[in-house]
Amino acid sequence: MIRHTLKQLVIVGGGTAGWMTAARLARHFRKTDIRITLVESSDIGTVGVGEATIPTLRQFYADLGMTDKEVMRATQATVKLGIQFEQWREPGSDFIHPFGVFGQKANGIDFHHYWLKLRQRGDTSELADYSLGLQLARHHRFTPPSLQPPSELSVFDWALHFDAAAFGRLMRDYAERHGVERLDARIESVKQHPETGNIEALYLDSGNLVGGDLFIDCSGFRALLIEQTLNTGYCDWSEWLHCDRAVAVQSERFGEAPPYTVSRAQTAGWQWRIPLQTRQGNGYVYCSDQVSDDEATSTLVDHIDGPLLNDPKPFRFTAGRRRRAWNRNCIAVGLSAGFLEPLESTSIALVETAIHKIRRAFQKPWYTQADIDRFNEDTALEYERVRDFIILHYKLNGRTDSPFWERCRAMPIPDTLREKVEAFRAQGELLRYRAEIFGPASWLAIYSGLGLLPERYHPGVDRLDFQYLKDALIAMRQSVADAVAQAQTHNDYLQSLNRTG
Ligand code: FAD
Repeated sequence: MIRHTLKQLVIVGGGTAGWMTAARLARHFRKTDIRITLVESSDIGTVGVGEATIPTLRQFYADLGMTDKEVMRATQATVKLGIQFEQWREPGSDFIHPFGVFGQKANGIDFHHYWLKLRQRGDTSELADYSLGLQLARHHRFTPPSLQPPSELSVFDWALHFDAAAFGRLMRDYAERHGVERLDARIESVKQHPETGNIEALYLDSGNLVGGDLFIDCSGFRALLIEQTLNTGYCDWSEWLHCDRAVAVQSERFGEAPPYTVSRAQTAGWQWRIPLQTRQGNGYVYCSDQVSDDEATSTLVDHIDGPLLNDPKPFRFTAGRRRRAWNRNCIAVGLSAGFLEPLESTSIALVETAIHKIRRAFQKPWYTQADIDRFNEDTALEYERVRDFIILHYKLNGRTDSPFWERCRAMPIPDTLREKVEAFRAQGELLRYRAEIFGPASWLAIYSGLGLLPERYHPGVDRLDFQYLKDALIAMRQSVADAVAQAQTHNDYLQSLNRTG
């Protein structure tokens, strides 16, 4: 197999994806003579949205030696314990998808089976009562899990709502301190090898030519190298994910910042609310068949409490992924690799997994076709797993007030998703596939939050004495409630971040 040696790596684009890649790879290659150059154009700018994350981000910056406190201060961040879905099941309803478990497993059987038995016998407690992460969110409280009294019930994680531009600056600062060279110029054309089609160099508007062995395309929706140059192709998933536009605007924060993102269903999509320490991010993701851009913008603005800080900004996209994320000597990372809409805040997480796979491939200073194939296979799976999880939200919606929601409920779904839903519906089984970003607790949160409960519980549950089971569940609820009562408020936690030290 041919070995392609890596000496000069070129990253195209200085958005969140570009600078995260530059920072992490600068660290990865620090003991080698591989050079990294990043080209970005301050005239073009970045996409300028992407404020909600999932917990994996905290490990990403911890690997660069950064602490939560440092990052949260620098990015005006708040805590994200999960997402509150409003009106998805029906108008007036809500539920939270937390980054944490529900109850305690016993005798190898998942907790929800025990809860289900109790419920079938008339108990009115909610699954939500057994999740500490969820209850902290609901009560606007937060004490980091490491400071909670140790218990299986205190298993929860957390992420950030942050100013993505400020995070990009942190990443850039790290990358430049670790040797990454930055060029601020517009790429005007791309030079390819006449026979192999490999990318050889980029022509910049400054007149310079930047050559390299491997190019990482972080050019955003433009997909300058992976698509405009290499014509890689795109898997279009709009048959399942009907939203194709968004409009976003920032506003002044109104009231206390909750430690969760809000996703509120609207007639033709959903609206997000993301609290930062100093402002709030807002947006409406919608289906352009069902609502005009003007109507979407006024719906968005009508549902914002504080004064607006800028003009609403429109976005267009097609949900899907690039056919091959790694094509020839080019790897797409970030929006150039695909976009699945921001419902579960997965874009930045998919940047992290892409970087992880690049590092895995470059444990040695060269790559082969086998590295390319493995990268592409895993990327495709990761995107498909996230796709299925997002489709689930739409498929299980219970709204009857608009053709958009009716259509989502009636649509056929991918086989991989159908298999999962059926296993849960029939016997409460939470199937787990390879390369999933969201584990069983997240699936359970969406199933139950949208009203899908199993037809029967696990037969092993009947081995437990009923009164014993009832008492155990009362004790669990109490333990969650006690932990919530002892936790500090989210507001106090944010204030403690900004004290010196
Ligand atoms: P961009 O930010 O667009 O950066 C592209 C870079 O390429 C820029 O630096 C630009 O200058 C450069 N470039 C392009 N063409 C050229 C050229 N010819 N020459 C030189 N440079 C060039 N993600 C989340 O994780 N959470 C969220 O809550 C979230 N919300 C979102 C909401 C919406 C409406 C959208 C559209 C996206 C959202 N995302 C979210 C996705 C997130 O914004 C992106 O994944 C993230 O910002 C990374 O973008 P990027 O770096 O790939 O692209």
